[in-house]
Amino acid sequence: MTMKEVRTRFAPSPSGFLHVGGARTALFNYLYAKATGGKFLLRVEDTDRDRSTEASFQIILESLKWLGMDWDEGPGVGGPNGPYTQSERLPIYQEHTDRLIKENKAYRCFCTPEELENKKKQAESMGIPYLYDGKCSNLSEAEIQEKLSAKQAYTVRFRIPNKIVIVDDIIQGKVKFESKLIGDFIIVKSDGFPSYNYAVVIDDALMSITHVIRGVGHLSNTPRQILIGEAFGFPIPQFAHVSEIVGADGKKLSKRAGATSVLAFRDLGYLPETMRNYMALLGWTSPDGREFLPDEELCKLFDIARCSKSPATFDVFKKLKEEEKESVDFNKLDANGLAEYLNPKSKLNWMSNKLIRDIPIARLGKEMVPFLQESKIPNEYKSGEHPKLLEILDKVRVYLDRLLQAPPYIEEFFLEDIQFENEEAKNLVLEGNGKLVAKGFYEVIKNANAVSADDFSAAFKTVGEKTGEKGKTLFMPIRSITTGKSHGLELPILFSLLGKEQLVKRMDKLATQLQIDL
Ligand code: GLU
Repeated sequence: MTMKEVRTRFAPSPSGFLHVGGARTALFNYLYAKATGGKFLLRVEDTDRDRSTEASFQIILESLKWLGMDWDEGPGVGGPNGPYTQSERLPIYQEHTDRLIKENKAYRCFCTPEELENKKKQAESMGIPYLYDGKCSNLSEAEIQEKLSAKQAYTVRFRIPNKIVIVDDIIQGKVKFESKLIGDFIIVKSDGFPSYNYAVVIDDALMSITHVIRGVGHLSNTPRQILIGEAFGFPIPQFAHVSEIVGADGKKLSKRAGATSVLAFRDLGYLPETMRNYMALLGWTSPDGREFLPDEELCKLFDIARCSKSPATFDVFKKLKEEEKESVDFNKLDANGLAEYLNPKSKLNWMSNKLIRDIPIARLGKEMVPFLQESKIPNEYKSGEHPKLLEILDKVRVYLDRLLQAPPYIEEFFLEDIQFENEEAKNLVLEGNGKLVAKGFYEVIKNANAVSADDFSAAFKTVGEKTGEKGKTLFMPIRSITTGKSHGLELPILFSLLGKEQLVKRMDKLATQLQIDL
């Protein structure tokens, strides 16, 4: 017997951007298809006419393309089971609905929204869950025809059979649901569009989906979908509901605390492979516990059965302070604003730094192109190919967690004429013990064999001991006499990149501008 080909799908609703949770769902579907030699489909679920937008559709496509998750069938590439956008499949749903009505498995419901709303409120006030009371479930043919010719608006409801539905989930195990707690639900809305729980079943069946991998939030929808599938006599796919992703505070990711668009990670300068590797570990572990997994390995090793039921922790952002939780909206910040909230010790940074160090330097140069455009370096270096740029990049890359961090370091190498930025920077040297500190640092560096960032940190310490200064009054005069600025890059790193000679030259120039001797 030949095994059936695995067919998975990602089925986003285009009503926003693609956030990390959605991207992880797409990734699991993609990887599972790759690992089993199957197919990965993309389907657009745009039946909610009020919320679906073309802009969101484009953002989702751009996000998936950036992440390198190519789909075998779907928008743009086509395939034998199209169209792959639900709003273009209305005749297909219509045909299925006619069949269900004919078989008495569904019925038209003429209850008005106001009527239903009142009944819902009544149930609420009595503290009981609302279920449709079945008012229209047994209308006579004559009654139905009368309402139809009077052009009364209607929905179509699924007639729920009374039974226990067992969802046998690959990740969550066996979960039981009692169908009588669901009630006859709407499968076609009054605008003629199918509801999500209805269209999804028809599409999964017609597209021969074998595995439905999606967020655990959809587990409670699954019994509805199984019942509809059974009503049509469709084969029921295997379900795998993946765990929730929680933030550093252990709570579900919200807009404010990090349910950020994946494109924000591109703009911060993480590479797509890093994102894939990091997201693959949100709920899945490799058989030998390895964490750093190149693409080929992920595509070989991924198995949905190894996914955990417990929530996965997204450690990319710092835990927000109480007052920040209200005021900060990550989706309104640009990359530099967002960078302020990154957790420097995240697993993402660790993975990203490793990849930035390991990839061929020519590739790194290419990846840097968008980040160089706005930087203060001569135009001829902005193509990311110039040998001098690559040489600098090669020195800088060990310090980078992401590419957006690179331009300030690179700019330092192109600084021709160093100057004090403002009076404040000058005063850092001129006031208090500033001169003494600057002089002390100059002497230590001139005589030292400092090369690494650690050597420079040791030099700071020596100057501190000599002058009795520590903290700001130690660091700021040193920053100022070497950079002409009162804020900026991490000094030990910058110094190790510039090298001793450059540094001494800079201090000489800046001291002359201050008319002091070092
Ligand atoms: N359109 C649904 C969503 O975006 C898809 C759920 C599913 O995969 O069945 O949540």
